[in-house]
Amino acid sequence: MLSPRSGDVTEGRLRAGDPMGVYVHFPFCSVRCPYCDFAVDTRGEIPHDEYADAVAVEIAARAAWFDGGGPLVSIYFGGGTPGLWRPDSLGRVLEAARETFGRVAASALEITVEVNPGEVDTARLAALRDCGVNRLSIGVQALEDRLLVTLGRNHTAAAALACLPAARAAGFDDVSVDLMFGVPGQSLDDWRRDVDAVLSLAPEHVSAYALTVERGTAFGALDRAGGLRRPDDDLVVQMFEAGRTALEAAGLAQYEVSSYARAGHRARHNRLYWSLTPYLGVGASASSFRPLDDGTAWRFANPRATDVYLRAARAGGGSPAVRQIERRRAADLENEALWLGLRTIDGVGRVAHRARHGVDPLAGREAAASRATAAGWLTVDEERLRLTSAGVLYADEVAAWFWS
Ligand code: SF4
Repeated sequence: MLSPRSGDVTEGRLRAGDPMGVYVHFPFCSVRCPYCDFAVDTRGEIPHDEYADAVAVEIAARAAWFDGGGPLVSIYFGGGTPGLWRPDSLGRVLEAARETFGRVAASALEITVEVNPGEVDTARLAALRDCGVNRLSIGVQALEDRLLVTLGRNHTAAAALACLPAARAAGFDDVSVDLMFGVPGQSLDDWRRDVDAVLSLAPEHVSAYALTVERGTAFGALDRAGGLRRPDDDLVVQMFEAGRTALEAAGLAQYEVSSYARAGHRARHNRLYWSLTPYLGVGASASSFRPLDDGTAWRFANPRATDVYLRAARAGGGSPAVRQIERRRAADLENEALWLGLRTIDGVGRVAHRARHGVDPLAGREAAASRATAAGWLTVDEERLRLTSAGVLYADEVAAWFWS
């Protein structure tokens, strides 16, 4: 019997042949945004070196868990705000990951750092570029100052607009911008203006996502008290569609529910998550995925609080005791593959799905597929199951039908 919350995550042999990624969580932020439920630490003094030392040692300590894996293809620095990390400290961690996983040339890797406008200048961005970072993800979110205030962001629209030219000046030719719709007080016109303004900067990639209100956040409390006036669902759908139309007209093709890219600029790191390939997550709260050759997998995460992580890393010789351990059965992974695949524009390839999971994605789901097809949300042919342009909005509903 497999226990979902315990076990030895080092057990079993890694599925061979997959590429892999490393996710590095940097928990520090200048302020906590009221909608954010990530592991965030807003202390005044960031322990740049202590944190880099802990993460570098953790990478070395955990490498054996991913023995037999394929080449490293991506290193992603997320947070928190890794743009606040002193570039020499971040660079040390980047080197540790490359060193540990086969010294892949930095140019052969996608190496992404999330940054916030107003917190990085051209000199800092150039220093990141010099370390080998070749992709930036800029947390613009909105381009109306009053909406940025609502979102608790500590930057202005002007700073957001200046960030992408600064990235270009620093030598970045692969830049993603995060934008948010469904924000309290946001009109359809506000959203259209934001999208147009971002497009005028010609990013290679845009992540456009609807604000979600999480229970444990300040927005969650405000919402429960009736104090959060959000655009209604119809308006949010209109925003999604208006954003998609404008982004696609500008050459950024939708390739996942929230993701748009110019040709050749789809995020490789996200692809690892969507295709159930292995990744090692290091740093406070970071989660990892270790698929095994028997079709099962381990998911596990580090302690969430920074000090607990640092103490645990010291006590564990660089390998803090993991928590939230889940052993995913083969059937769980097959369901996940379907759900994740349907969220992508390429959909679920039937041959690849059968090869990995041993069953056709339609098997036992014919009625659900007919229902989704009749609704105009899904197309099915011999090669793949794919959501239609209208169906992309209802990816979760379709997946729920498949599972029920
Ligand atoms: S900057 Fe990002 S990670 Fe930090 S609190 Fe705001 S949303 Fe969360």
